[in-house]
Amino acid sequence: MNREEILAELKKPWDIIVVGGGITGAGVFREGARAGFRCLLLEQRDFAWGTSSRSGKMVHGGLRYLAQGQIKTTWHSVREREKLLREYAGMVESMGFLVPYYEFDRLTPYLLGAGLTVYDLMAFRYDHSQLDAVNFVMQIPAIDSHGLTGGVRFRDARTDDARLVLRVIQEGESLGGVALNYVKVEEVCKDKTGRVQGVALRDEVSKENVEVRGQLVINATGVWADELRSQMGRSPRMRRLRGSHLIFPSWRFPLAQALSFFHPADNRSVYVLPWEGITLVGTTDVDHEHSLAEEPHISYSEGEYLLDGVRTNFPSLNLTAKDILSTFSGVRPVINTGKANPSKESRDHVIWNDNGLVTVTGGKMTTFSFPPGSKMGFISAQAAELTGLPKGLPLIAGASDKACEVLGSGCLEPHQGCIGFGTTATICVNSKHYVEPIPLVPPYPSAKPGAYNLEFQTFRGFWMVSWFKEQFALKEQEIAQERGVATESLLEEMVAKVPPGSLGLLLQPYWSPGLRYPGPEAKGCIIGFGGVHKREHIYRALLEGLVYSMREGRERIEKRSKVPITELSVCGGGSKSDQVMQITVDVFNLPVRRTKVSEASGLGAAILAAVGSGFYPDIETAAREMTNVGSVFEPNSKSVKIYDELFKKVYSKTYRRLRPLYRVIQAVTGYPEIPGKSAHLGVE
Ligand SMILES: Cc1cc2nc3c(=O)[nH]c(=O)nc-3n(C[C@H](O)[C@H](O)[C@H](O)COP(=O)(O)OP(=O)(O)OC[C@H]3O[C@@H](n4cnc5c(N)ncnc54)[C@H](O)[C@@H]3O)c2cc1C
Repeated sequence: MNREEILAELKKPWDIIVVGGGITGAGVFREGARAGFRCLLLEQRDFAWGTSSRSGKMVHGGLRYLAQGQIKTTWHSVREREKLLREYAGMVESMGFLVPYYEFDRLTPYLLGAGLTVYDLMAFRYDHSQLDAVNFVMQIPAIDSHGLTGGVRFRDARTDDARLVLRVIQEGESLGGVALNYVKVEEVCKDKTGRVQGVALRDEVSKENVEVRGQLVINATGVWADELRSQMGRSPRMRRLRGSHLIFPSWRFPLAQALSFFHPADNRSVYVLPWEGITLVGTTDVDHEHSLAEEPHISYSEGEYLLDGVRTNFPSLNLTAKDILSTFSGVRPVINTGKANPSKESRDHVIWNDNGLVTVTGGKMTTFSFPPGSKMGFISAQAAELTGLPKGLPLIAGASDKACEVLGSGCLEPHQGCIGFGTTATICVNSKHYVEPIPLVPPYPSAKPGAYNLEFQTFRGFWMVSWFKEQFALKEQEIAQERGVATESLLEEMVAKVPPGSLGLLLQPYWSPGLRYPGPEAKGCIIGFGGVHKREHIYRALLEGLVYSMREGRERIEKRSKVPITELSVCGGGSKSDQVMQITVDVFNLPVRRTKVSEASGLGAAILAAVGSGFYPDIETAAREMTNVGSVFEPNSKSVKIYDELFKKVYSKTYRRLRPLYRVIQAVTGYPEIPGKSAHLGVE
């Protein structure tokens, strides 16, 4: 959508309005869109204009937080670092970090080694090593070797913070969210009871004011959070802590790995980081007294402080202020607890709900999302009143619907396929590796932290059963109503009358086109009609076509992941039909398990809640204990043979053969609509 289209769309009510286009807002926006909410993201300037483009560029666990005893923050950060390294490979990259030891240092190899062992254990790997002075100087030749006794090398990661924000926003958009920048939220709109019902914003381009309605407004404005909260009568809670960096050209300050040292003036940890052809030195931690409307900038004393630090540690480089290419500063959104030393304030996030204005702030770039199964907070009194949920109930992070479905089916390994016969039909597996079953379509994160949910979907899945019922089964609907039974039970009898293969009637369920797969011109088809065919043949062909499409998905996943699917579970509403189960078994030629609970997605969410509430130590144990097989279906060799031949010789060739004709149909009729051209369907 272009800006005009988005502005026109603003008038329609939203489920969630997220204010603030930094990493926090981007993360909330993406998750809101993923959960299927109508989600709007608003940013007053460029996306990532705030603190999220002015960070130290490190995706890190924060060794400093470990030293301060902030175990929970460090654990969360390390786990998130590992996840981001996998999910954003290429954008978030691993980086070596060095720390030198000097004679008379408080820091001993023993102390740091112990800390790093804990740090590594949190990442489930051992990845640090002690270096003697000679080896340390080989790694960082310009380091002051006077009194150097050695050092340690460990692993963290770095990123391009602004690009990361843009990527997360794009993910939210691809999930149906709408993001708009250069719109400043000026007012939180409330109803008569004082409950938030939307925002009033100013379009900075057209200078127009617009009111937008939303059920929930998320205040993800970082260090600006108090501005919106004050409109709800809340007193300020943020402590604005400025951090500044110096930038040197890398030819003047060459460095292959990052280094952290203790500043001679106050023993604070300062880092030097090679990044995109420059060397960054940071950072400071001082109270920021200026207006947030002004660009934050480095003070003279911060510049001197950082320069002193590098001069002391890299004396041979003779760095002076003239070597500084540039500087940048950002303001940390930190919750004020009144600590005398700003660096001692916690970097944990908070969530406050003020009558429908939910403020999410604090935290770090690294920890912008929550792993499934982790406790996010508790149901507040107000949320209890609105939802009927008991106050104080823990709120546990879940996962996407399909990721929960796979978990609720007990499929945690890459050889265990999970078919979900819902409105959309899917076949998914869990994988430790990032694999795109359809190139350039990223997999979702799995409900199992650190893994991916490789998914293949047929968008119009059991939606087609409803379509059939509405279009062709009015008689069955009437009879079902008379008998007081579900129409599906009569359809089940219909299917049983038709032999496997539907007497040559074959259906391809591409009832809606796909951007990358099957293609924008795609159409569904039913081929092979003859005088013998009746409605029941069409219905059986429809079910068979859906299962063929799942087999197609299986082959794609296997080809790309290189792991054969040897076990299969089926869940979702469609799994309640014995006929559907038998067709699945015969098309896949595998014994297939029907899950005991057909709503496996809900069960998966319950598994995460059970882990987050401490009932089970981990997701694997909970999945083992909480999932059950309903029944197992075995293949019938005669049907297997028919389906195998039809799939290989007809179904898998159909789309390629018909594609040229689909393109002609699309050009002639304008359906499916060609982006940028209006449809002409012969209907005025
Ligand atoms: C110097 C420094 C170094 C750091 N280094 C690291 C690091 O190495 N690793 C790490 O993990 N973290 C680091 N952090 C912390 C991290 O950068 C922040 O925690 C994070 O970027 C905060 O993101 P945010 O989305 O909450 O805030 P922001 O990025 O500031 O986003 C808030 C957005 O809201 C917008 N906004 C405000 N008011 C309105 C309004 N009324 N209407 C519309 N939009 C509005 C702003 O323009 C802004 O873009 C560092 C922070 C600093 C300052």
